[in-house]
Amino acid sequence: MLIALFPGDGIGPEIVDQAKRVLDALAIDGLTYEHGLVGGAAYKAVGHPLPPETLEIAKRADAILFGAVGDPDCDALERHLRPEQAILGLRKELGLFSNLRPAKVFPELAGESALKPEVAGAIDLLIVRETNGDVYFGEKGFRTTADGQREGYDVMSYNEGEVRRIAHAGFQAARARRGKLCSVDKANVLETSQLWRDVVIEVSADYPDVALSHMYVDNAAMQLVRNPGQFDVIVTGNLFGDILSDQASMCVGSIGMLASATLNGSGQGLYEPIHGSAPDIAGTGKANPLATVLSAAMLLRYSLGMADQADRIERAVAKALANGARSPDLGGTMNTVQMGDAVLAALD
Ligand code: ATP
Ligand code: MG
Repeated sequence: MLIALFPGDGIGPEIVDQAKRVLDALAIDGLTYEHGLVGGAAYKAVGHPLPPETLEIAKRADAILFGAVGDPDCDALERHLRPEQAILGLRKELGLFSNLRPAKVFPELAGESALKPEVAGAIDLLIVRETNGDVYFGEKGFRTTADGQREGYDVMSYNEGEVRRIAHAGFQAARARRGKLCSVDKANVLETSQLWRDVVIEVSADYPDVALSHMYVDNAAMQLVRNPGQFDVIVTGNLFGDILSDQASMCVGSIGMLASATLNGSGQGLYEPIHGSAPDIAGTGKANPLATVLSAAMLLRYSLGMADQADRIERAVAKALANGARSPDLGGTMNTVQMGDAVLAALD
């Protein structure tokens, strides 16, 4: 099994180092690693944010552990040379269409949430967001109305195949968790959503062990704040998922704790913290590596089929927090390496 390590810019190398230490400590047979340059680091070394050598490693890898890209030195570059093109290029080249974002509140951190601690404490959900279709990719443009006004338009569309593959991703994720899937749409007013709902129901026949429910997106936004503990897995389209996943992340607390995965149809995935390269704290040791450590756990769970090892990492993070491990974003004083040490010490 090949894991590609793409640390990138800013705090990327510091946090990926800690995740790699944790992976090494699991002593899993048969894992190999290759490093690749991405982002501003790649631009500075070879003149392109996603060099062909990196793409070649990515295509061969079973999974990619990605740090972050973004470098203020590159702000003036043309768009296609900017660091962010690395992640966009990888998503496109590898066909990564299913974005998974877990939101979970570790009991010790419930006070950091925007919600009341007792409400936040119950959050343990996963949003599965489609990322290759919807209104972002439909026909769009400007035109002039009959009475001479400028008008903008973006067509929302999904075909059955696009919905079917993300529905499968949602059901499979639910099956690997608590067996509950909530499909979020706006089927009372949108044809796209009516199709979405029909296809999700059709796919549900393959997953009799998963309890399926449906919710309109406006209600889902309310329920995420009112009673987020009711959700296990939420599957939704690109636009609704964009908004709901940011909303869910604020319910959880620090940006330094949130992991993500983006998968294609063959189980290959790219795993990264949801935060950026944090140039303001790069090199200071203040970066919290736990989002990246938790991304490595997702990598084991979703691309390598090693749920037991993923559980070990997640248990160790919970135990490290219970033991008082706190980086500055969590109100403590531990540096990046000490946070890694705390996870290693807590591994069972
Ligand atoms: P991007 O556009 O790449 O998402 P951004 O401008 O949204 O980047 P981030 O790089 O995510 O910003 O940083 C936002 C803030 O959060 C910064 O103040 C940064 O220092 C802080 N931050 C981000 N990641 C971490 C982390 N792992 N640990 C501690 N603080 C972090
Ligand atoms: Mg950002």
